[in-house]
Amino acid sequence: MSDRDYYEILGVPREADGPAIKKAYRRLALKYHPDKNPGDKQAEERFKEAAEAYAVLSDPEKRSRYDRFGRSGLGAQGGFQGFDQEIFGDFADILGDLFGFGGLFGGGRRRPARHPGDDLRYDLELEFEEAVRGLETKIQVPRTERCPDCGGRGSKSPEGIRSCQQCGGRGQVAFQQGFFTLTRPCGRCRGAGRVIVSPCPACRGEGRVRRERTLTVRIPPGVDEGMHLRLQGEGEASPDEGPPGDLYVVVHVAPHEYFRRDGSHLRCEVPISFALAALGGRVRVRTLDGGEEMEIPPGTQTGTTLKLSGKGVPSVGGGARGDQYVTLTVRTPTRLSAEQRELLEKLGRLEGEEAADRGLFDRVKDIFG
Ligand SMILES: [Zn+2]
Ligand SMILES: [Zn+2]
Repeated sequence: MSDRDYYEILGVPREADGPAIKKAYRRLALKYHPDKNPGDKQAEERFKEAAEAYAVLSDPEKRSRYDRFGRSGLGAQGGFQGFDQEIFGDFADILGDLFGFGGLFGGGRRRPARHPGDDLRYDLELEFEEAVRGLETKIQVPRTERCPDCGGRGSKSPEGIRSCQQCGGRGQVAFQQGFFTLTRPCGRCRGAGRVIVSPCPACRGEGRVRRERTLTVRIPPGVDEGMHLRLQGEGEASPDEGPPGDLYVVVHVAPHEYFRRDGSHLRCEVPISFALAALGGRVRVRTLDGGEEMEIPPGTQTGTTLKLSGKGVPSVGGGARGDQYVTLTVRTPTRLSAEQRELLEKLGRLEGEEAADRGLFDRVKDIFG
């Protein structure tokens, strides 16, 4: 290790402030990082030097001792020995985004473990009308919950939980890799920092128990296939002190014999007779509210779609109801009475003569037009 002056190593003046020192170190650390200079001993030396200088100059107390007494003022605790977890924490802040080291170095300061529980999914089958009108229903959801006997601690008495001796309660153990000191979760306590010596009988020390819960779900009017409702905090319990996950209720809607959904609109088909299509008239159409008389204009072609305004589905967001679209199909009669046959034959003859007349007219027009 060199004896160069720390300010010189970082290339900053003696009066440089904290951010300037951090900036200088960051620049050097990125330049000489071993990952960027594989096998380069000199770069590694520079990298260590810069880390040592930064460890001292970023700590106001160490810096003032260094300013007054030089390296000797730092004693055995100074210099590179001071390159401890706190520095790795800063190091992670500085380099984490560039090297993706956040997870590797992030263990310097122990944070309380707060992982949210897993989310759950429940598939809810609804009848068509239930989805349209909305409803309140009860669902059975199997899930894990915080153990009520031990309050999730895993043991019913405080003496039943001991600090992990392997990691000293930190939940993480440090290990050496090259000149790096890295941390990994403690294998003995699986990162919890404590071990259960007297497990709670109800949860066998897990802190969580399996329960089947009955939940009341309010389905708003107008839900459609595939929509989901989020019930916050009704998912799995957290494995530690975190909040529970959420429950997602996914809606499935059975098809209807008559209606089809098209967002908030409804579609349906109504067969009408040839006579009604030709002459026009009124027909009663089924709607969600029961039925409605609809005007068929004379000369309606098969496939014509008419609209019944406001007879669709309410929108989930509380907006206006959609419309109902009625497609008319003209039914061709298959079995005819003698009288119907006679009338249709007469109609056919009339249409034939009309067509022949028009044909003659067209030919005359072609010649003289
Ligand atoms: Zn328990
Ligand atoms: Zn441990």
